[in-house]
Amino acid sequence: MDEFLENLINECRKYTDMGKVATYIPELAKVDPNQLGICVIGTNGKIFRAGQHQNRFTIQSVVKPIMLLLALADNGEEVIRSKVGVEATGKPFDAINMNAGKLESKHVNPMVNMGAIAVASLIKGKDGNERFQRLLEFTRVLAGNPELDINEDVYLSEKRTGNKNRALGYLLKNYGLIEGDVDEVLDTYFKACSIHINCEELARIGYCLCSHGKLWKSDERVFEARYANYVNAILTTCGMYDGSGEFAINVGIPAKSGVGGGIMGVVPTRMGIGIFSPGLDDKGNSYAGIRVLEKFSKEMFLSIF
Ligand code: GLU
Repeated sequence: MDEFLENLINECRKYTDMGKVATYIPELAKVDPNQLGICVIGTNGKIFRAGQHQNRFTIQSVVKPIMLLLALADNGEEVIRSKVGVEATGKPFDAINMNAGKLESKHVNPMVNMGAIAVASLIKGKDGNERFQRLLEFTRVLAGNPELDINEDVYLSEKRTGNKNRALGYLLKNYGLIEGDVDEVLDTYFKACSIHINCEELARIGYCLCSHGKLWKSDERVFEARYANYVNAILTTCGMYDGSGEFAINVGIPAKSGVGGGIMGVVPTRMGIGIFSPGLDDKGNSYAGIRVLEKFSKEMFLSIF
């Protein structure tokens, strides 16, 4: 399998030039686009790695399912459903998803920015700092790395330039969809997006979702099984932004991408996958990462459909 993955990475390396690294967060523009790595962790207890799987990158939107899991555990499904919906927006990740009327919870999806900012406010904590620390601790547990931390430069870069997210935050506040101080919530969100991670850690998080809440090589359940069903379902319909339908056809697994170039894949009951390549397609998904997943899924019959 290691050799199979290595060949797959070599075959797809040509695609790293075809994407473009995100530049709207200035610090991300400095990232070397010629990186491609993968890690796969199976429920048979095996782990496989290939390419630049050790390189670190910021988690960006791949933190959204983790935030949702923690907010579900903190509040229960009913409260979450009263603040954020589950329907795909079919719009870009940073879209302002509202019509002329009132902004309602059903308009905000937790896998795109608007819904994720609302979810950040639902994580319990006395202030933004405590909320973020709880999220970081939870991410460390899922990722199996107690030293996981943020990339300070990317965090500050987004905090300085993230005015569109600020606008989304104030809009949500206006319609009663976020709790607390907007700037504090945004600070939690910006820090969450800048958690510095690698392919193996992403694969471990994907593994927890594939095994309905169990950590890799452990029987410890760190979240309720039904929350894995909830999150995996939303990943299937909108984890890849407005490219989710095409991804469902070509790859066919629950997955979440981030503008840092990471993709976390979840093959329920079988495996967690972490992929990284920073060049993005026009929807904000890793260009080479999707090509790798497509080939991998076809070879291994991973599609759940
Ligand atoms: N921090 C990024 C933002 O809020 C995350 C976007 C993404 O990865 O989709 O714009």
